[in-house]
Amino acid sequence: MLSRATINHWLCEHDPRRLEELWAEADRTRSAWVGDAVHLRGLIEVSNHCVRACHYCGIRAENAGVTRYRLTHEQVMTAARAALAFGCGTVVLQAGEDRGLSAGAVAAMIRGIKALGDIAVTLSLGERSDVEFAQWRAAGADRYLLRIETSNETLYRAVHPPRGRQPSERKAMLARLRALGYAIGSGVLVGLPGQTWSDLADDIVFLEERALDMIGVGPFIAHPATPLGAQPAEAGGTEQVPADELTTCKVMALARLACPWANIPSTTALSALDPERGRESGLKRGANVVMPNFTPLPYRAFYEIYPGKAACGDEPDRVAERLKDRITRLGRPIAAGRGDAVRPVESAPVCA
Ligand code: SAM
Repeated sequence: MLSRATINHWLCEHDPRRLEELWAEADRTRSAWVGDAVHLRGLIEVSNHCVRACHYCGIRAENAGVTRYRLTHEQVMTAARAALAFGCGTVVLQAGEDRGLSAGAVAAMIRGIKALGDIAVTLSLGERSDVEFAQWRAAGADRYLLRIETSNETLYRAVHPPRGRQPSERKAMLARLRALGYAIGSGVLVGLPGQTWSDLADDIVFLEERALDMIGVGPFIAHPATPLGAQPAEAGGTEQVPADELTTCKVMALARLACPWANIPSTTALSALDPERGRESGLKRGANVVMPNFTPLPYRAFYEIYPGKAACGDEPDRVAERLKDRITRLGRPIAAGRGDAVRPVESAPVCA
């Protein structure tokens, strides 16, 4: 159990030599619990239509400058076959909160992908109904990713407006997803305008209490066509958490210590901040997963949740091949298989 004092200590530490201790402990813990092999999750960005108005996100409904797309069943299947052939043991279907992506259409994609072989399916489709979650689970979906973005409820409500009178209650939703038998993942944005160090420490406590199977942590990257990009608000003085690589790596390393069994990706947002070393930094500081993008190339640029994301794109094969090279140059093998998280029975998660 990570104490609040330990979390605060590392969040406040800036001496690179002393931070080596945190990186080493996160790396040792990662190696002991989930091994050295790096799991590949093939990301398919199924649709960028979105009904939400999240203040941080470039594909928010109000952004009229986005060219909207929704992949066909066949396009998703072609991308999934490419991911499988590449060695991915998991396909991740991600999208904006798109009501045009019907529950039946998603269920058909899940069934189609599961029929390709021993492959896990992770969904990241936002806040949907329990009936839809159950339908997708019955179709074979294994995992669900739903970031809480920040555990500070006031800040969360300010940047993630509810839809109509429907409250946005992601924490409770995660508990229901787990009850349905999904492996659950969540995470936070680092450096959201208005986020304090104390909020960030609470975020890490949240990750630990929920005993998550997957944890996604990335820096907030301002998008000019969003309220937070146009007019960044800030928590007072030195209280504002910076949206930088160092702080993101600290949170990733502490997430590894909080949930040693978890699958933790070295996120694309981290490599967008530092294309040269970002991905490697994450892998050396607690991460054990990377997510090569298999979205068909013509659509990549339209899934611009933050600027510079599409620049991480290239011919899917070439970019993914380079990613494999970079992993093996770190001395880390590429994992085979689905890479399910194995949570010890004694880790009793707190319910919503
Ligand atoms: N619609 C689904 C949802 O809300 O969970 C999945 C897609 S959403 C675009 C995936 C994640 O992108 C969000 O959970 C958020 O953390 C991240 N994201 C959105 N805007 C971002 C930004 N400006 N900088 C960094 N990450 C961002």
